[in-house]
Amino acid sequence: MIKAKQIQRSSMVLVVDDQESNRDVLGMILEDSYQVIYACDGKEALVQIREHAEELSLVMLDLVMPEMSGFEVLEAMRADERIKGIPVIVLTAEKDAELKALNLGALDFIAKPFDMHEVILARVARIIELSEGKHLISAAEHDELTGLYTQNFFFEYANRLYMYHKELRFDAVSMNIEQFHSLNAMNGREFGDEVLKVLGDEIRHFLSENRGIACRAESDHFSIYCEPQADYAALRERFQKRLDGISSKVNILLRMGVNPWQEEVDPVLLFDRASTACDMVRGDYRRPLMIYDEDLRKKETLNRRLLNDLSDAIKTHQLKVYFQPKYDVQSDPPRLNSAEALVRWIHPELGFISPGDFIPLLEGNGLISEVDDYVWQETAKQIAKWKEKYGITLPVSVNLSRVDVFDRDLKNWLKSIVEANGLSFGDLKLEITETACAENSKWLLDTIAELRDMGFEIEMDDFGSGYSSLNMLSTMPTDVLKIDMKFVRNIEESETDRRLVKLILDVARDLHIKTVAEGAETEGQVDLLRNYGVDLVQGYYFSRPLPPEDFERLIEREIATKRG
Ligand code: C2E
Ligand code: CA
Ligand code: CA
Repeated sequence: MIKAKQIQRSSMVLVVDDQESNRDVLGMILEDSYQVIYACDGKEALVQIREHAEELSLVMLDLVMPEMSGFEVLEAMRADERIKGIPVIVLTAEKDAELKALNLGALDFIAKPFDMHEVILARVARIIELSEGKHLISAAEHDELTGLYTQNFFFEYANRLYMYHKELRFDAVSMNIEQFHSLNAMNGREFGDEVLKVLGDEIRHFLSENRGIACRAESDHFSIYCEPQADYAALRERFQKRLDGISSKVNILLRMGVNPWQEEVDPVLLFDRASTACDMVRGDYRRPLMIYDEDLRKKETLNRRLLNDLSDAIKTHQLKVYFQPKYDVQSDPPRLNSAEALVRWIHPELGFISPGDFIPLLEGNGLISEVDDYVWQETAKQIAKWKEKYGITLPVSVNLSRVDVFDRDLKNWLKSIVEANGLSFGDLKLEITETACAENSKWLLDTIAELRDMGFEIEMDDFGSGYSSLNMLSTMPTDVLKIDMKFVRNIEESETDRRLVKLILDVARDLHIKTVAEGAETEGQVDLLRNYGVDLVQGYYFSRPLPPEDFERLIEREIATKRG
Protein backbone atom coordinates (compact mmCIF):
# COMPACT_ATOMS: atom_id res chain seq x y z
CA MET A 1 0.00 0.00 0.00
CA ILE A 2 2.64 2.44 1.07
CA LYS A 3 4.60 1.45 -1.95
CA ALA A 4 1.66 2.22 -4.22
CA LYS A 5 1.33 5.69 -2.79
CA GLN A 6 4.95 6.55 -3.08
CA ILE A 7 5.91 5.07 -6.41
CA GLN A 8 2.79 5.16 -8.52
CA ARG A 9 1.45 8.59 -7.71
CA SER A 10 1.99 9.84 -11.22
CA SER A 11 0.65 6.75 -13.01
CA MET A 12 -2.56 7.31 -14.94
CA VAL A 13 -5.51 4.95 -14.55
CA LEU A 14 -8.66 4.95 -16.69
CA VAL A 15 -11.84 3.79 -14.97
CA VAL A 16 -14.58 2.66 -17.38
CA ASP A 17 -18.06 1.95 -16.00
CA ASP A 18 -21.55 2.99 -17.06
CA GLN A 19 -22.69 3.27 -13.44
CA GLU A 20 -21.75 6.47 -11.75
CA SER A 21 -21.71 4.92 -8.28
CA ASN A 22 -19.10 2.40 -9.38
CA ARG A 23 -16.93 5.12 -10.91
CA ASP A 24 -17.20 7.04 -7.66
CA VAL A 25 -16.18 4.14 -5.46
CA LEU A 26 -13.16 3.29 -7.58
CA GLY A 27 -12.19 6.92 -7.88
CA MET A 28 -12.29 7.28 -4.14
CA ILE A 29 -10.07 4.23 -3.69
CA LEU A 30 -7.55 5.22 -6.34
CA GLU A 31 -7.33 8.99 -6.37
CA ASP A 32 -4.87 9.23 -3.49
CA SER A 33 -2.33 7.15 -5.34
CA TYR A 34 -3.03 7.66 -9.02
CA GLN A 35 -4.09 10.17 -11.56
CA VAL A 36 -7.56 8.87 -12.44
CA ILE A 37 -9.57 9.59 -15.60
CA TYR A 38 -13.03 8.25 -16.44
CA ALA A 39 -15.22 6.99 -19.27
CA CYS A 40 -18.87 5.90 -19.03
CA ASP A 41 -19.12 3.57 -22.01
CA GLY A 42 -16.97 1.50 -24.37
CA LYS A 43 -16.82 4.03 -27.16
CA GLU A 44 -15.69 6.82 -24.92
CA ALA A 45 -13.19 4.45 -23.34
CA LEU A 46 -11.54 3.73 -26.68
CA VAL A 47 -11.28 7.45 -27.43
CA GLN A 48 -9.61 8.04 -24.06
CA ILE A 49 -7.28 5.07 -24.44
CA ARG A 50 -6.12 6.21 -27.87
CA GLU A 51 -5.69 9.79 -26.70
CA HIS A 52 -3.64 8.80 -23.62
CA ALA A 53 -1.93 5.79 -25.13
CA GLU A 54 1.51 6.97 -24.05
CA GLU A 55 0.65 7.89 -20.45
CA LEU A 56 -1.92 5.24 -19.46
CA SER A 57 -0.65 2.67 -16.96
CA LEU A 58 -3.88 0.76 -16.53
CA VAL A 59 -7.47 0.45 -17.72
CA MET A 60 -10.13 -0.77 -15.29
CA LEU A 61 -12.92 -1.97 -17.52
CA ASP A 62 -16.52 -2.85 -16.83
CA LEU A 63 -17.72 -5.67 -19.09
CA VAL A 64 -21.44 -5.04 -19.29
CA MET A 65 -22.18 -1.61 -20.75
CA PRO A 66 -24.61 -0.24 -23.32
CA GLU A 67 -23.36 0.85 -26.76
CA MET A 68 -20.09 -1.04 -26.66
CA SER A 69 -19.30 -3.83 -24.18
CA GLY A 70 -16.04 -4.36 -22.37
CA PHE A 71 -15.39 -7.42 -24.53
CA GLU A 72 -15.54 -5.29 -27.64
CA VAL A 73 -13.14 -2.81 -26.08
CA LEU A 74 -10.73 -5.66 -25.35
CA GLU A 75 -11.00 -6.91 -28.90
CA ALA A 76 -10.44 -3.47 -30.35
CA MET A 77 -7.42 -2.97 -28.09
CA ARG A 78 -5.98 -6.28 -29.10
CA ALA A 79 -6.24 -5.39 -32.77
CA ASP A 80 -4.41 -2.08 -32.30
CA GLU A 81 -0.61 -2.37 -32.00
CA ARG A 82 -0.30 1.01 -30.31
CA ILE A 83 -2.59 0.20 -27.37
CA LYS A 84 -2.57 -3.57 -27.11
CA GLY A 85 0.18 -3.51 -24.48
CA ILE A 86 -1.77 -1.39 -21.99
CA PRO A 87 -2.78 -3.63 -19.07
CA VAL A 88 -6.48 -4.13 -18.37
CA ILE A 89 -8.29 -5.24 -15.24
CA VAL A 90 -11.90 -6.19 -15.84
CA LEU A 91 -14.69 -5.40 -13.39
CA THR A 92 -17.38 -8.01 -13.33
CA ALA A 93 -20.10 -9.66 -11.33
CA GLU A 94 -20.25 -12.79 -13.47
CA LYS A 95 -17.79 -15.62 -13.00
CA ASP A 96 -18.15 -16.91 -16.55
CA ALA A 97 -17.22 -13.58 -18.00
CA GLU A 98 -13.90 -13.53 -16.19
CA LEU A 99 -12.22 -16.29 -18.11
CA LYS A 100 -13.55 -15.02 -21.37
CA ALA A 101 -12.02 -11.65 -20.57
CA LEU A 102 -8.72 -13.26 -19.62
CA ASN A 103 -8.72 -15.08 -22.90
CA LEU A 104 -9.18 -11.76 -24.66
CA GLY A 105 -6.09 -10.36 -23.01
CA ALA A 106 -7.22 -8.90 -19.68
CA LEU A 107 -4.61 -9.42 -17.01
CA ASP A 108 -6.78 -9.63 -13.93
CA PHE A 109 -10.33 -9.16 -12.75
CA ILE A 110 -11.98 -7.59 -9.77
CA ALA A 111 -15.35 -8.90 -8.68
CA LYS A 112 -18.35 -6.71 -8.09
CA PRO A 113 -19.51 -5.64 -5.59
CA PHE A 114 -16.09 -4.27 -4.81
CA ASP A 115 -13.82 -5.94 -2.33
CA MET A 116 -11.97 -4.33 0.52
CA HIS A 117 -10.25 -1.18 -0.65
CA GLU A 118 -6.81 -2.38 0.38
CA VAL A 119 -7.16 -5.47 -1.76
CA ILE A 120 -8.13 -3.50 -4.83
CA LEU A 121 -5.32 -1.06 -4.33
CA ALA A 122 -2.79 -3.86 -3.91
CA ARG A 123 -3.92 -5.57 -7.08
CA VAL A 124 -3.83 -2.39 -9.09
CA ALA A 125 -0.33 -1.68 -7.79
CA ARG A 126 0.81 -5.17 -8.63
CA ILE A 127 -0.47 -5.08 -12.19
CA ILE A 128 1.10 -1.72 -12.83
CA GLU A 129 4.36 -2.81 -11.31
CA LEU A 130 4.42 -5.99 -13.33
CA SER A 131 3.62 -4.39 -16.63
CA GLU A 132 5.92 -1.46 -16.10
CA GLY A 133 8.59 -4.01 -15.39
CA LYS A 134 7.54 -5.43 -18.77
CA HIS A 135 7.19 -8.87 -17.20
CA LEU A 136 3.76 -9.46 -18.43
CA ILE A 137 4.03 -7.62 -21.66
CA SER A 138 6.85 -9.79 -22.84
CA ALA A 139 5.17 -12.87 -21.50
CA ALA A 140 1.76 -11.92 -22.80
CA GLU A 141 2.28 -13.78 -25.99
CA HIS A 142 0.51 -16.69 -27.45
CA ASP A 143 2.43 -19.68 -28.61
CA GLU A 144 2.64 -19.11 -32.34
CA LEU A 145 2.21 -22.68 -33.41
CA THR A 146 -0.87 -23.64 -31.41
CA GLY A 147 -2.41 -20.33 -30.43
CA LEU A 148 -2.44 -21.43 -26.80
CA TYR A 149 -0.72 -19.39 -24.09
CA THR A 150 2.98 -19.47 -23.48
CA GLN A 151 4.05 -21.15 -20.29
CA ASN A 152 4.95 -17.95 -18.41
CA PHE A 153 1.72 -16.28 -19.19
CA PHE A 154 -0.25 -19.39 -18.35
CA PHE A 155 1.27 -19.60 -14.89
CA GLU A 156 0.65 -15.89 -14.25
CA TYR A 157 -3.03 -16.51 -14.97
CA ALA A 158 -3.25 -19.76 -13.12
CA ASN A 159 -1.68 -18.19 -10.04
CA ARG A 160 -4.10 -15.35 -10.15
CA LEU A 161 -7.08 -17.65 -10.46
CA TYR A 162 -5.72 -19.60 -7.56
CA MET A 163 -5.09 -16.59 -5.34
CA TYR A 164 -8.20 -14.55 -5.92
CA HIS A 165 -10.72 -17.22 -6.83
CA LYS A 166 -10.42 -19.94 -4.25
CA GLU A 167 -13.87 -21.18 -5.22
CA LEU A 168 -12.73 -22.28 -8.67
CA ARG A 169 -11.02 -25.54 -7.59
CA PHE A 170 -9.40 -26.29 -10.93
CA ASP A 171 -7.54 -29.51 -11.78
CA ALA A 172 -4.11 -29.68 -13.44
CA VAL A 173 -3.80 -31.73 -16.62
CA SER A 174 -0.43 -32.34 -18.19
CA MET A 175 0.01 -33.94 -21.61
CA ASN A 176 2.87 -35.20 -23.78
CA ILE A 177 3.22 -37.00 -27.06
CA GLU A 178 4.92 -40.37 -26.64
CA GLN A 179 8.42 -40.30 -28.17
CA PHE A 180 7.86 -36.98 -29.85
CA HIS A 181 11.58 -36.77 -30.63
CA SER A 182 11.51 -39.91 -32.68
CA LEU A 183 8.24 -38.96 -34.30
CA ASN A 184 9.89 -35.76 -35.48
CA ALA A 185 13.07 -37.50 -36.55
CA MET A 186 11.28 -40.17 -38.54
CA ASN A 187 8.55 -38.10 -40.16
CA GLY A 188 10.01 -34.65 -40.38
CA ARG A 189 9.52 -31.45 -38.48
CA GLU A 190 6.50 -30.39 -40.48
CA PHE A 191 4.69 -33.51 -39.46
CA GLY A 192 5.62 -32.88 -35.83
CA ASP A 193 4.29 -29.33 -36.08
CA GLU A 194 1.05 -30.60 -37.55
CA VAL A 195 0.61 -32.95 -34.60
CA LEU A 196 1.08 -30.08 -32.13
CA LYS A 197 -1.31 -27.84 -34.04
CA VAL A 198 -4.06 -30.43 -34.15
CA LEU A 199 -3.75 -31.08 -30.44
CA GLY A 200 -3.74 -27.34 -29.70
CA ASP A 201 -6.84 -26.96 -31.81
CA GLU A 202 -8.75 -29.65 -29.94
CA ILE A 203 -7.69 -28.17 -26.61
CA ARG A 204 -9.15 -24.84 -27.70
CA HIS A 205 -12.40 -26.61 -28.63
CA PHE A 206 -12.46 -28.18 -25.23
CA LEU A 207 -11.95 -24.81 -23.57
CA SER A 208 -14.81 -23.28 -25.48
CA GLU A 209 -17.07 -25.77 -23.69
CA ASN A 210 -15.33 -25.88 -20.31
CA ARG A 211 -13.94 -23.24 -18.01
CA GLY A 212 -10.18 -23.20 -18.03
CA ILE A 213 -6.93 -22.08 -19.64
CA ALA A 214 -4.15 -23.91 -21.47
CA CYS A 215 -0.62 -23.51 -22.73
CA ARG A 216 2.04 -25.27 -24.67
CA ALA A 217 5.39 -25.25 -22.92
CA GLU A 218 8.52 -26.45 -24.64
CA SER A 219 8.07 -28.82 -27.59
CA ASP A 220 5.23 -31.25 -26.90
CA HIS A 221 4.34 -30.34 -23.30
CA PHE A 222 0.76 -29.14 -22.89
CA SER A 223 -0.91 -27.98 -19.68
CA ILE A 224 -4.60 -27.40 -19.03
CA TYR A 225 -5.94 -25.77 -15.87
CA CYS A 226 -9.66 -26.48 -15.93
CA GLU A 227 -12.81 -27.22 -14.02
CA PRO A 228 -12.82 -30.84 -12.80
CA GLN A 229 -13.87 -33.41 -15.39
CA ALA A 230 -15.87 -36.47 -14.48
CA ASP A 231 -13.96 -38.78 -16.82
CA TYR A 232 -10.34 -38.07 -17.72
CA ALA A 233 -10.01 -41.27 -19.71
CA ALA A 234 -12.74 -39.94 -21.97
CA LEU A 235 -10.99 -36.58 -22.23
CA ARG A 236 -7.74 -38.25 -23.24
CA GLU A 237 -9.66 -40.33 -25.79
CA ARG A 238 -11.16 -37.18 -27.21
CA PHE A 239 -7.70 -35.70 -27.88
CA GLN A 240 -6.32 -39.05 -29.01
CA LYS A 241 -9.09 -39.36 -31.61
CA ARG A 242 -8.04 -36.11 -33.23
CA LEU A 243 -4.42 -37.29 -33.33
CA ASP A 244 -5.47 -40.61 -34.85
CA GLY A 245 -7.04 -38.70 -37.68
CA ILE A 246 -3.72 -37.14 -38.76
CA SER A 247 -2.17 -40.14 -40.43
CA SER A 248 -3.13 -43.72 -41.08
CA LYS A 249 0.52 -44.72 -41.22
CA VAL A 250 1.99 -43.18 -38.09
CA ASN A 251 0.89 -44.11 -34.60
CA ILE A 252 0.70 -41.13 -32.32
CA LEU A 253 0.11 -41.75 -28.64
CA LEU A 254 -0.89 -39.06 -26.19
CA ARG A 255 -0.13 -39.60 -22.53
CA MET A 256 -1.87 -37.66 -19.79
CA GLY A 257 -1.22 -36.98 -16.13
CA VAL A 258 -3.84 -35.37 -13.89
CA ASN A 259 -3.51 -33.85 -10.46
CA PRO A 260 -6.96 -33.07 -9.08
CA TRP A 261 -7.42 -29.86 -7.13
CA GLN A 262 -5.98 -30.00 -3.63
CA GLU A 263 -6.46 -27.63 -0.75
CA GLU A 264 -3.55 -25.21 -0.35
CA VAL A 265 -1.60 -26.55 -3.31
CA ASP A 266 -0.65 -23.79 -5.73
CA PRO A 267 -0.63 -24.24 -9.51
CA VAL A 268 3.14 -24.68 -9.74
CA LEU A 269 3.14 -27.66 -7.41
CA LEU A 270 -0.14 -28.93 -8.80
CA PHE A 271 1.32 -29.03 -12.32
CA ASP A 272 4.60 -30.39 -11.09
CA ARG A 273 2.76 -33.45 -9.84
CA ALA A 274 0.53 -33.68 -12.88
CA SER A 275 3.64 -33.82 -14.98
CA THR A 276 5.20 -36.42 -12.70
CA ALA A 277 2.07 -38.50 -13.19
CA CYS A 278 2.38 -37.98 -16.92
CA ASP A 279 6.03 -39.10 -16.89
CA MET A 280 5.11 -42.22 -14.99
CA VAL A 281 3.19 -43.61 -17.96
CA ARG A 282 5.99 -42.89 -20.42
CA GLY A 283 6.29 -45.84 -22.77
CA ASP A 284 3.18 -47.54 -21.42
CA TYR A 285 1.00 -48.06 -24.44
CA ARG A 286 -1.68 -49.90 -22.54
CA ARG A 287 -2.19 -47.27 -19.87
CA PRO A 288 -1.55 -43.77 -21.16
CA LEU A 289 -3.36 -41.97 -18.30
CA MET A 290 -2.29 -41.47 -14.70
CA ILE A 291 -4.05 -39.64 -11.91
CA TYR A 292 -1.82 -38.36 -9.12
CA ASP A 293 -2.83 -40.07 -5.90
CA GLU A 294 -1.47 -41.47 -2.67
CA ASP A 295 0.37 -44.33 -4.42
CA LEU A 296 2.13 -41.95 -6.69
CA ARG A 297 3.09 -39.71 -3.82
CA LYS A 298 4.70 -42.71 -2.16
CA LYS A 299 6.48 -43.64 -5.35
CA GLU A 300 7.79 -40.12 -5.66
CA THR A 301 9.08 -40.20 -2.11
CA LEU A 302 10.83 -43.47 -2.92
CA ASN A 303 12.36 -41.96 -6.05
CA ARG A 304 13.71 -39.04 -4.10
CA ARG A 305 15.21 -41.43 -1.60
CA LEU A 306 16.87 -43.46 -4.35
CA LEU A 307 18.36 -40.37 -5.95
CA ASN A 308 19.62 -39.31 -2.59
CA ASP A 309 21.17 -42.69 -1.77
CA LEU A 310 22.77 -43.30 -5.14
CA SER A 311 26.26 -41.95 -4.69
CA ASP A 312 26.65 -43.85 -1.43
CA ALA A 313 25.39 -46.96 -3.13
CA ILE A 314 28.10 -46.72 -5.76
CA LYS A 315 30.84 -46.08 -3.22
CA THR A 316 29.82 -48.96 -0.96
CA HIS A 317 29.21 -51.44 -3.78
CA GLN A 318 25.50 -51.83 -3.20
CA LEU A 319 25.24 -51.94 -6.98
CA LYS A 320 25.95 -55.43 -8.30
CA VAL A 321 26.51 -56.44 -11.85
CA TYR A 322 24.69 -59.61 -12.91
CA PHE A 323 25.31 -61.54 -16.09
CA GLN A 324 22.81 -63.16 -18.40
CA PRO A 325 24.15 -65.61 -20.99
CA LYS A 326 23.54 -65.52 -24.72
CA TYR A 327 23.54 -68.91 -26.39
CA ASP A 328 24.42 -69.72 -29.96
CA VAL A 329 21.35 -71.72 -31.00
CA GLN A 330 22.63 -72.66 -34.43
CA SER A 331 25.03 -75.14 -32.94
CA ASP A 332 23.76 -78.38 -31.45
CA PRO A 333 23.65 -78.39 -28.49
CA PRO A 334 23.49 -74.60 -28.05
CA ARG A 335 26.82 -73.09 -26.94
CA LEU A 336 27.52 -70.32 -24.47
CA ASN A 337 28.56 -67.42 -26.67
CA SER A 338 28.59 -64.23 -24.64
CA ALA A 339 26.64 -62.35 -21.95
CA GLU A 340 24.92 -59.13 -21.08
CA ALA A 341 25.79 -57.16 -17.96
CA LEU A 342 22.70 -56.03 -16.03
CA VAL A 343 22.86 -53.91 -12.92
CA ARG A 344 21.00 -54.56 -9.66
CA TRP A 345 20.82 -52.47 -6.54
CA ILE A 346 20.89 -54.33 -3.22
CA HIS A 347 19.80 -51.57 -0.88
CA PRO A 348 20.64 -52.08 2.83
CA GLU A 349 17.11 -51.11 3.90
CA LEU A 350 14.94 -51.39 0.82
CA GLY A 351 16.36 -54.69 -0.39
CA PHE A 352 16.57 -55.78 -4.03
CA ILE A 353 15.74 -53.04 -6.49
CA SER A 354 15.44 -53.95 -10.15
CA PRO A 355 16.89 -51.64 -12.78
CA GLY A 356 13.47 -51.01 -14.24
CA ASP A 357 12.74 -49.10 -11.03
CA PHE A 358 15.78 -46.86 -10.97
CA ILE A 359 17.38 -46.67 -14.42
CA PRO A 360 14.61 -44.57 -16.01
CA LEU A 361 14.75 -42.28 -12.98
CA LEU A 362 18.49 -41.76 -13.42
CA GLU A 363 18.21 -41.32 -17.16
CA GLY A 364 16.00 -38.35 -16.54
CA ASN A 365 18.74 -36.41 -14.78
CA GLY A 366 22.06 -37.57 -16.17
CA LEU A 367 23.06 -39.56 -13.09
CA ILE A 368 22.87 -42.69 -15.19
CA SER A 369 26.39 -42.04 -16.45
CA GLU A 370 27.78 -42.63 -12.98
CA VAL A 371 26.03 -45.99 -12.79
CA ASP A 372 27.10 -46.95 -16.29
CA ASP A 373 30.69 -46.01 -15.58
CA TYR A 374 30.61 -48.27 -12.54
CA VAL A 375 28.96 -51.13 -14.46
CA TRP A 376 31.45 -50.88 -17.34
CA GLN A 377 34.40 -50.92 -14.95
CA GLU A 378 33.06 -53.90 -13.02
CA THR A 379 32.26 -55.75 -16.24
CA ALA A 380 35.71 -55.18 -17.70
CA LYS A 381 37.28 -56.41 -14.47
CA GLN A 382 35.10 -59.51 -14.58
CA ILE A 383 35.98 -60.34 -18.19
CA ALA A 384 39.66 -60.06 -17.28
CA LYS A 385 39.18 -62.24 -14.21
CA TRP A 386 37.50 -65.00 -16.22
CA LYS A 387 40.16 -64.74 -18.88
CA GLU A 388 42.75 -65.46 -16.25
CA LYS A 389 40.82 -68.07 -14.30
CA TYR A 390 39.52 -70.13 -17.25
CA GLY A 391 41.79 -69.12 -20.12
CA ILE A 392 38.78 -68.09 -22.23
CA THR A 393 37.45 -64.78 -23.41
CA LEU A 394 33.75 -64.39 -22.86
CA PRO A 395 32.61 -61.15 -24.52
CA VAL A 396 30.09 -59.21 -22.45
CA SER A 397 27.84 -56.42 -23.65
CA VAL A 398 27.04 -53.40 -21.53
CA ASN A 399 24.12 -51.02 -21.92
CA LEU A 400 24.65 -47.46 -23.09
CA SER A 401 22.09 -44.81 -22.29
CA ARG A 402 21.21 -41.97 -24.58
CA VAL A 403 23.02 -39.68 -22.19
CA ASP A 404 26.26 -41.69 -22.53
CA VAL A 405 26.16 -41.59 -26.29
CA PHE A 406 26.00 -37.82 -26.27
CA ASP A 407 28.93 -37.54 -23.89
CA ARG A 408 31.82 -35.91 -25.76
CA ASP A 409 34.36 -38.05 -23.99
CA LEU A 410 32.71 -41.43 -24.53
CA LYS A 411 35.46 -42.82 -26.77
CA ASN A 412 38.33 -42.06 -24.41
CA TRP A 413 36.30 -43.15 -21.46
CA LEU A 414 35.62 -46.60 -22.94
CA LYS A 415 39.15 -46.86 -24.29
CA SER A 416 40.68 -46.31 -20.87
CA ILE A 417 38.44 -48.95 -19.28
CA VAL A 418 39.33 -51.53 -21.91
CA GLU A 419 43.05 -50.77 -21.72
CA ALA A 420 43.23 -50.65 -17.94
CA ASN A 421 41.98 -54.23 -17.83
CA GLY A 422 44.15 -55.55 -20.64
CA LEU A 423 41.19 -56.36 -22.89
CA SER A 424 40.72 -55.92 -26.60
CA PHE A 425 37.90 -53.74 -27.88
CA GLY A 426 35.93 -56.70 -29.17
CA ASP A 427 35.58 -58.10 -25.64
CA LEU A 428 33.29 -55.35 -24.46
CA LYS A 429 30.22 -54.97 -26.65
CA LEU A 430 27.91 -52.00 -26.56
CA GLU A 431 24.12 -52.16 -26.53
CA ILE A 432 22.33 -49.01 -27.57
CA THR A 433 18.55 -48.89 -27.57
CA GLU A 434 16.79 -48.42 -30.82
CA THR A 435 15.03 -45.29 -29.59
CA ALA A 436 18.38 -43.59 -28.99
CA CYS A 437 19.36 -44.55 -32.52
CA ALA A 438 16.13 -43.29 -34.00
CA GLU A 439 17.28 -39.73 -33.57
CA ASN A 440 19.67 -40.41 -36.34
CA SER A 441 21.65 -37.26 -35.68
CA LYS A 442 24.99 -36.75 -37.33
CA TRP A 443 26.67 -36.67 -33.95
CA LEU A 444 25.26 -40.07 -33.07
CA LEU A 445 26.15 -41.62 -36.43
CA ASP A 446 29.70 -40.26 -36.22
CA THR A 447 30.18 -41.46 -32.65
CA ILE A 448 29.01 -44.94 -33.50
CA ALA A 449 31.14 -45.08 -36.60
CA GLU A 450 34.20 -44.07 -34.58
CA LEU A 451 33.51 -46.65 -31.88
CA ARG A 452 33.23 -49.33 -34.56
CA ASP A 453 36.48 -48.18 -36.14
CA MET A 454 38.15 -48.66 -32.78
CA GLY A 455 36.90 -52.24 -32.75
CA PHE A 456 33.81 -52.10 -30.54
CA GLU A 457 30.79 -54.10 -31.65
CA ILE A 458 27.50 -52.23 -31.59
CA GLU A 459 24.25 -54.00 -30.77
CA MET A 460 20.97 -52.28 -31.48
CA ASP A 461 18.83 -53.11 -28.44
CA ASP A 462 15.04 -53.51 -28.27
CA PHE A 463 14.64 -53.48 -32.01
CA GLY A 464 10.97 -53.14 -32.97
CA SER A 465 9.87 -51.61 -29.68
CA GLY A 466 9.49 -48.02 -30.79
CA TYR A 467 9.13 -46.13 -34.00
CA SER A 468 11.68 -48.20 -35.81
CA SER A 469 11.85 -48.94 -39.43
CA LEU A 470 13.89 -51.51 -41.23
CA ASN A 471 15.19 -48.57 -43.16
CA MET A 472 17.09 -47.49 -40.08
CA LEU A 473 19.37 -50.49 -40.40
CA SER A 474 20.89 -49.17 -43.57
CA THR A 475 21.70 -45.73 -42.14
CA MET A 476 22.73 -46.78 -38.66
CA PRO A 477 25.96 -48.75 -38.67
CA THR A 478 25.35 -51.75 -36.45
CA ASP A 479 26.87 -55.21 -35.97
CA VAL A 480 24.17 -56.97 -34.04
CA LEU A 481 20.45 -56.53 -33.88
CA LYS A 482 18.55 -57.48 -30.77
CA ILE A 483 14.93 -58.30 -31.46
CA ASP A 484 12.66 -56.92 -28.80
CA MET A 485 11.18 -59.24 -26.24
CA LYS A 486 7.61 -58.37 -27.16
CA PHE A 487 7.88 -60.26 -30.48
CA VAL A 488 9.40 -63.28 -28.82
CA ARG A 489 6.78 -63.41 -26.11
CA ASN A 490 3.94 -64.17 -28.52
CA ILE A 491 5.82 -65.89 -31.27
CA GLU A 492 4.09 -69.20 -30.69
CA GLU A 493 0.58 -67.76 -30.75
CA SER A 494 0.77 -64.84 -33.13
CA GLU A 495 1.16 -65.29 -36.85
CA THR A 496 1.84 -61.56 -37.22
CA ASP A 497 4.72 -61.65 -34.75
CA ARG A 498 6.16 -64.69 -36.48
CA ARG A 499 6.07 -62.93 -39.81
CA LEU A 500 7.64 -59.80 -38.36
CA VAL A 501 10.47 -61.75 -36.80
CA LYS A 502 11.07 -63.58 -40.10
CA LEU A 503 11.09 -60.31 -41.99
CA ILE A 504 13.55 -58.69 -39.58
CA LEU A 505 15.78 -61.76 -39.80
CA ASP A 506 15.71 -61.72 -43.60
CA VAL A 507 16.71 -58.10 -43.79
CA ALA A 508 19.44 -58.55 -41.18
CA ARG A 509 20.85 -61.52 -43.06
CA ASP A 510 20.98 -59.53 -46.30
CA LEU A 511 22.87 -56.78 -44.52
CA HIS A 512 25.21 -59.28 -42.79
CA ILE A 513 24.03 -58.19 -39.38
CA LYS A 514 24.02 -60.79 -36.61
CA THR A 515 20.82 -61.31 -34.63
CA VAL A 516 19.93 -61.92 -31.01
CA ALA A 517 16.44 -62.70 -29.75
CA GLU A 518 15.84 -61.82 -26.13
CA GLY A 519 13.23 -62.93 -23.65
CA ALA A 520 12.83 -66.53 -24.78
CA GLU A 521 11.33 -68.50 -21.94
CA THR A 522 10.12 -71.74 -23.52
CA GLU A 523 11.59 -74.49 -25.61
CA GLY A 524 8.95 -73.85 -28.26
CA GLN A 525 10.09 -70.25 -28.62
CA VAL A 526 13.73 -71.25 -28.89
CA ASP A 527 12.93 -73.89 -31.53
CA LEU A 528 11.01 -71.44 -33.67
CA LEU A 529 13.74 -68.83 -33.40
CA ARG A 530 16.42 -71.33 -34.32
CA ASN A 531 14.44 -72.49 -37.35
CA TYR A 532 14.00 -68.92 -38.51
CA GLY A 533 17.75 -68.47 -38.35
CA VAL A 534 18.38 -66.37 -35.25
CA ASP A 535 22.06 -66.55 -34.25
CA LEU A 536 21.83 -66.05 -30.50
CA VAL A 537 19.13 -66.38 -27.89
CA GLN A 538 19.06 -64.72 -24.47
CA GLY A 539 16.29 -65.49 -22.03
CA TYR A 540 15.05 -67.27 -18.95
CA TYR A 541 14.87 -70.50 -20.94
CA PHE A 542 18.66 -70.64 -20.71
CA SER A 543 19.17 -68.61 -17.57
CA ARG A 544 18.11 -65.57 -15.58
CA PRO A 545 20.74 -62.91 -15.01
CA LEU A 546 23.16 -64.31 -12.41
CA PRO A 547 25.74 -62.93 -10.00
CA PRO A 548 29.28 -63.67 -11.25
CA GLU A 549 29.83 -66.55 -8.81
CA ASP A 550 26.80 -68.37 -10.18
CA PHE A 551 27.59 -67.46 -13.76
CA GLU A 552 30.87 -69.35 -13.36
CA ARG A 553 28.88 -72.61 -13.19
CA LEU A 554 27.73 -71.92 -16.78
CA ILE A 555 31.30 -71.29 -17.91
CA GLU A 556 32.52 -74.45 -16.24
CA ARG A 557 29.74 -76.49 -17.83
CA GLU A 558 30.62 -75.06 -21.21
CA ILE A 559 34.28 -75.94 -20.79
CA ALA A 560 33.34 -79.47 -19.72
CA THR A 561 31.14 -80.06 -22.81
CA LYS A 562 33.86 -78.75 -25.05
CA ARG A 563 36.36 -81.19 -23.59
CA GLY A 564 33.91 -84.05 -23.55
P1 C2E B 1 17.35 -54.61 -21.51
O1 C2E B 1 18.69 -54.06 -21.86
O2 C2E B 1 16.39 -54.82 -22.63
O3 C2E B 1 17.65 -55.93 -20.71
C1 C2E B 1 16.91 -57.10 -20.81
C2 C2E B 1 15.95 -57.25 -19.67
O4 C2E B 1 15.11 -58.37 -19.93
C3 C2E B 1 16.61 -57.53 -18.33
O5 C2E B 1 15.81 -56.94 -17.33
C4 C2E B 1 16.50 -59.03 -18.24
O6 C2E B 1 16.55 -59.52 -16.92
C5 C2E B 1 15.16 -59.27 -18.85
N1 C2E B 1 15.00 -60.60 -19.40
C6 C2E B 1 15.93 -61.37 -19.98
N2 C2E B 1 15.40 -62.55 -20.36
C7 C2E B 1 14.10 -62.53 -20.03
C8 C2E B 1 13.03 -63.47 -20.17
O7 C2E B 1 13.16 -64.58 -20.69
N3 C2E B 1 11.81 -63.11 -19.70
C9 C2E B 1 11.61 -61.90 -19.11
N4 C2E B 1 10.39 -61.61 -18.66
N5 C2E B 1 12.59 -60.99 -18.96
C10 C2E B 1 13.83 -61.31 -19.42
P2 C2E B 1 16.46 -56.08 -16.20
O8 C2E B 1 17.74 -56.69 -15.78
O9 C2E B 1 15.38 -55.84 -15.21
O10 C2E B 1 16.81 -54.73 -16.95
C11 C2E B 1 15.83 -53.88 -17.41
C12 C2E B 1 16.41 -52.77 -18.24
O11 C2E B 1 17.22 -51.90 -17.44
C13 C2E B 1 17.37 -53.25 -19.32
O12 C2E B 1 16.65 -53.66 -20.42
C14 C2E B 1 18.18 -52.02 -19.58
O13 C2E B 1 17.50 -51.14 -20.45
C15 C2E B 1 18.25 -51.36 -18.23
N6 C2E B 1 19.56 -51.67 -17.62
C16 C2E B 1 19.93 -52.75 -16.89
N7 C2E B 1 21.22 -52.62 -16.49
C17 C2E B 1 21.67 -51.45 -16.99
C18 C2E B 1 22.93 -50.74 -16.93
O14 C2E B 1 23.91 -51.17 -16.35
N8 C2E B 1 23.00 -49.54 -17.57
C19 C2E B 1 21.94 -49.02 -18.24
N9 C2E B 1 22.09 -47.85 -18.84
N10 C2E B 1 20.76 -49.66 -18.33
C20 C2E B 1 20.62 -50.85 -17.71
CA1 CA C 1 20.25 -54.40 -23.18
CA1 CA D 1 16.65 -55.28 -24.67
